[in-house]
Amino acid sequence: MQTSFTKEQLEDADLAVSEKILRSCVHCGFCTATCPTYVLEGDELDSPRGRIYLIKEMFEQGRPASAEIVTHIDRCLSCLACMTTCPSGVNYMHLVDHARAHIEETYGRPLGDRLIRMMLAAILPYPHRFSSVLRVASLLKPLANFLPRPGRGRKTPSLFDRLAAMAELAPRKLPRRDCEQARVFAPRGERRGRVALLAGCAQQVLNPAINAAAIRLLTRNGIEVVLADDETCCGALVHHLGRKGQALGFARANIDAWSRAHVDAILVTASGCGTTVKDYGFMLRDDPLYAEKAAEISGRARDISEYLAELDLQPRSPKPFTVAYHAACSLQHGQQITDLPKRLLKAAGFSVRDVPEGHICCGSAGTYNILQPFFANRLKRRKLANIEKLRPDLIAAGNIGCMTQLAGGTEIPILHTVELLDWADGGPMPLQIAKRGA
Ligand code: SF4
Ligand code: SF4
Repeated sequence: MQTSFTKEQLEDADLAVSEKILRSCVHCGFCTATCPTYVLEGDELDSPRGRIYLIKEMFEQGRPASAEIVTHIDRCLSCLACMTTCPSGVNYMHLVDHARAHIEETYGRPLGDRLIRMMLAAILPYPHRFSSVLRVASLLKPLANFLPRPGRGRKTPSLFDRLAAMAELAPRKLPRRDCEQARVFAPRGERRGRVALLAGCAQQVLNPAINAAAIRLLTRNGIEVVLADDETCCGALVHHLGRKGQALGFARANIDAWSRAHVDAILVTASGCGTTVKDYGFMLRDDPLYAEKAAEISGRARDISEYLAELDLQPRSPKPFTVAYHAACSLQHGQQITDLPKRLLKAAGFSVRDVPEGHICCGSAGTYNILQPFFANRLKRRKLANIEKLRPDLIAAGNIGCMTQLAGGTEIPILHTVELLDWADGGPMPLQIAKRGA
């Protein structure tokens, strides 16, 4: 794609990166076929190619973001299906991240929009705040029925639609969080490695059983696990809201925390977080104090499935259940991890089925299901219909966001891949399955 930036404009390092990305797009349009919003709407401006044009125009003209650009960028899920499809290797992730930061700096959002974004950024990354808010939300959940129903609402959602979406997503009851008492978990037998496990801000509140299962499985297989002191949210949630400064602050704090922990690898059980931690090197590339450390930490970050695959697990108690494997976008498109989790589940005795249209997002996408309930709910229904066609006993996924998004719409138990692997390795039966008397 031809671009027309001035020499002065290209002195801005961020703009120079985006210009290179823009030039790599040959506008073939292959990406449109796998873009969830284009599949739903058929509108070029809601496709990757359309968004790339809008971003190019905004940056070339050096102007503040317009309402039109904001509408179409906000509707983008950052699912990165377009990156998997693109034959020219266009790095849409870095381009849209830059566009979101520019929008945040230059666009005056309507009051309701501003308020909800401020609220999400002030609550979600902080587990104690998030947990207190969820406790109140679960008490108010019955009232959600009286709020306007998202999905049947507007394409451009009101504050009400978003509050209703939030109430719908809140669990009826919060699980107890007791796994953060200890910070170091000793391995059984000979020590084969030492890793840091990212606790994850939303995940440790919504489903602490995931990291508990990861810790059991790792330590049972000779790996010492550390929950690093002073670790924070990975920054993904605020990064996708365009709040660059806040996201970089989280990244720096984590880099310091993990550098002090002296570990072989940093393991992540929420793939949305993993994609961001693996991108710290790029995010902090111009920071003289952190660039090198950030690249080093990103190089050591692994999704839990990548690390487990290297351990050559020998499941002690294989499970003969049929599992629909839901591929989280951040895992399959963000990190290009597609077969590993399925191979691990099969080796653990599960019969694993691929979900039709598995490349299309479930609509979760960080805070997307709160900010864009109209699109998120359509994608959720589509995903669940595809899953239910398989008539599985269980659904496995590698990202808490997807698990929360899908949980409200199906009776089929949804578990993290690592919970199933721990169970097959001699760990306790996951609570969700135990409750059903499997
Ligand atoms: S597939 Fe890649 S090169 Fe083609 S239009 Fe989409 S982003 Fe551009
Ligand atoms: S990230 Fe996903 S929603 Fe956004 S343009 Fe790419 S495919 Fe479409």
